[in-house]
Amino acid sequence: MNIPLNKPFLGKEEEERVLEVIKSGNLLLGNKVEEFEKNFASYLGMRQVIGTSSGTSALYCVLKSNGIGNGDEVITTPLSFIATANSILHVGAKPVFTDINEETYNIDPDLIEKKITKKTKAILPVSLYGQPCNMDRLSEIAAKHNLILIEDAAQSHGSEFKGKKTGAWTTSSVFSFDPTKNLATCGGGAVVTNDEKVVEISKMLRIHGAKIKGQHDILGFNFKMNDIAAAIGIEQLKKLNIIVDKKIKTAQFYTKSFSDLNWIITPKVQANSKHSFHKYTIRIVGKNREEVIKKLNDAGVGTGIFYNKPIHKQKLYLDLGYKDNLPVVEKIIDQVLSLPIHPNLKKEDLDYISEIMHSIK
Ligand SMILES: *Cc1c(COP(=O)(O)O)cnc(C)c1O
Repeated sequence: MNIPLNKPFLGKEEEERVLEVIKSGNLLLGNKVEEFEKNFASYLGMRQVIGTSSGTSALYCVLKSNGIGNGDEVITTPLSFIATANSILHVGAKPVFTDINEETYNIDPDLIEKKITKKTKAILPVSLYGQPCNMDRLSEIAAKHNLILIEDAAQSHGSEFKGKKTGAWTTSSVFSFDPTKNLATCGGGAVVTNDEKVVEISKMLRIHGAKIKGQHDILGFNFKMNDIAAAIGIEQLKKLNIIVDKKIKTAQFYTKSFSDLNWIITPKVQANSKHSFHKYTIRIVGKNREEVIKKLNDAGVGTGIFYNKPIHKQKLYLDLGYKDNLPVVEKIIDQVLSLPIHPNLKKEDLDYISEIMHSIK
């Protein structure tokens, strides 16, 4: 058996769309990017989507265009892909890490207010592994303290909180279309917003600060989305419901099948939430995680650890002088283990994985 941790769910539809791009010769920021932006905006019910080269560049654009920079503090989670916190550093602001909730793995709303100072300008939560943040609570806290709330929805395409999609709760939010994400392309990202100022500045940042071709008004980058990614994205968006439904069914299978294994904590889905299972992440609490990984890998089952370290413990942050003590994330970080959950998995693959898990003594 060879069951990879990840594999994008691609077919003829994506293939044909990509060929259209090649035949048209419009490879970068062309009509496919425009079509994808329109479709994604209408999927989310948001006014504008600005396609970018990656989720990371979208994060940079969204922070910068919201006026976040030197001297500002941004409250965020220590459990995410490092891009979340690094984008705050890139605009010259300071990430302030707040511990996670042990059930959701998302930033704990109860701990946020203690971290607010005169310098706090924004909160940047992540709906991790596909589990939506409690956007009600976060919106309340942000409104009470007059802070900008920006959701990093890079792991939660197709997730909902109280029937409303993640990425549509805040005035601006960010997605990634990295090949491992629920909506997979050959790399790309998006700023999603209802704010005209964010639209205007993000579009400028994407093409070296130019609003009119050749006239560079502000400092920007080359963050353009390419049309091959957009073409794939157009078809992936049509399949997103199918992709997420399949992932949810797989998650339900795993959780039921592991219910007799007392050395595992399976993911909890919060009330009022649709968890899109970007990742299916369990915690190994009664066995040595390395041995479990070895058993699975030796049997041909791919595994992943998200993440090896909390962000504040990465060398980059230690070198910057971070000394936070965040007990929940520091406890669970050595326990987390992600199993294959992509939509290509067949019933026999899932039965096989369950069998291997049950054979671990
Ligand atoms: C993937 C990811 C990003 C970055 O997206 P890229 O497209 O890889 O640059 C940012 N935040 C989170 C939470 C992610 O999972």
